Amino acid sequence: MKIAIGGAGIAGLAAAAFFARSGHNVSVYDKAPQPAPVGSGLIIQPTGQAALSALGLLDDLAQSGARLERLDGRLESGRKVLDVRYDALGLEIFGLAVHRSVLFDLLHKAAEKAGAVFSYGQEVAGVEGENDAMRLRFADGELSGPAALIVDALGLRTPFIERENCYLDYGALWANTPFPSTGGFSEHALVQRYRGANVSAGVMPIGSLCGEQEKMAAFFWTLRLKNYETWLMTPLPRWKGQVLKLWPEAGPVLDHLTSHEDFVLARYAHHTAPEPVEDRLVHIGDAWHAASPQLGQGANMALLDAWALSNALNVHGAVGAALGEFVKTRHRHVKIYQTISDLFTPVYQSDARILPALRDKLAEPLSSFWFIPKLLAAMVSGIIGDPLKNLQ
Ligand SMILES: Cc1cc2nc3c(=O)[nH]c(=O)nc-3n(C[C@H](O)[C@H](O)[C@H](O)COP(=O)(O)OP(=O)(O)OC[C@H]3O[C@@H](n4cnc5c(N)ncnc54)[C@H](O)[C@@H]3O)c2cc1C
Repeated sequence: MKIAIGGAGIAGLAAAAFFARSGHNVSVYDKAPQPAPVGSGLIIQPTGQAALSALGLLDDLAQSGARLERLDGRLESGRKVLDVRYDALGLEIFGLAVHRSVLFDLLHKAAEKAGAVFSYGQEVAGVEGENDAMRLRFADGELSGPAALIVDALGLRTPFIERENCYLDYGALWANTPFPSTGGFSEHALVQRYRGANVSAGVMPIGSLCGEQEKMAAFFWTLRLKNYETWLMTPLPRWKGQVLKLWPEAGPVLDHLTSHEDFVLARYAHHTAPEPVEDRLVHIGDAWHAASPQLGQGANMALLDAWALSNALNVHGAVGAALGEFVKTRHRHVKIYQTISDLFTPVYQSDARILPALRDKLAEPLSSFWFIPKLLAAMVSGIIGDPLKNLQ
């Protein structure tokens, strides 16, 4: 089948690799002038690991990544307000934290090797045609070749879905640093410090970057988007003073960050498209369901979407039946996680006062109930709703 994919992000690359390996004729179009991963670290959860394992890429990723055994969030006082232990379920599971470029590189190479053809510098503006002759329309007015299926993996700002005001007030500044050898950081834990829901910082081990040996970490700092310009004008030492007041142990991480240019501003958003399928156009990844990264699911859901769509196409020759099967496989999981993310984000990143105060009071005592650690581990692992049931 001829398949045109808009977007060479995680969803588009994974879909291209899956489809091309199944023998489809795959063309991928991206507006970036050349292959370029944006952002910093991310966690590949057991769900995403299963998808990468199906592509035969998990072992390579694991060699570069950091094996996360827990997520540990505390107040300045040291009181725990987030304590996720992957082993609470009694399963051999963990998070695999990586730099985005490592995942991007693996998926890109796998897709290219399987025969997917990439065109960069092509901004998708629309779609036209019908049946086996659907075409992507580019911003310069040109059209793609005909395809029987169009996959929208264009991310949050896909031109195919109208989204207004879906950005959250808070995002974060992200930076990569060498993994700190002092300060008591563990190579197997993502640690965070909170004050209320509007001040927080975190350090996530991310293993090594492509072709390098040095162990790295991602540092992130919550920022109200409208304060970004002010932050840019604040001398870095003064801002570091604010971070150190919250988290004195972060000093060895901050020492490596010497310029505002070391940071990337990540904007977070929440939105779910009402329908993932319109005739022969299917939305996957953030194009279908964007969420703040508090739960660390976005890339994993993108990988699951790609895997489910590929499986459905392998089982059903007809596009309509395959898309129906795809929606059936993914719909429930997407709904569950979009809802959980919507509920949790204000507790950890917002202007709310009562929710974080309740969190600060209740999180620690609640964690002594036997089912809470299991529930948290299941939630973060991405396995609530049994998304792998029809995929293995
Ligand atoms: C700071 C941060 C941390 C995160 N941490 C995690 C984590 O720990 N775990 C996790 O699972 N998820 C995480 N996420 C979420 C995850 O990154 C996203 O859910 C995931 O990248 C979505 O992939 P995608 O391919 O759908 O979209 P994208 O990665 O946004 O890719 C879209 C692609 O489409 C291209 N494009 C866009 N518009 C056009 C156009 N009009 N024409 C042509 N090309 C276009 C873009 O250039 C891009 O290459 C995080 C996100 C952020 C911002």
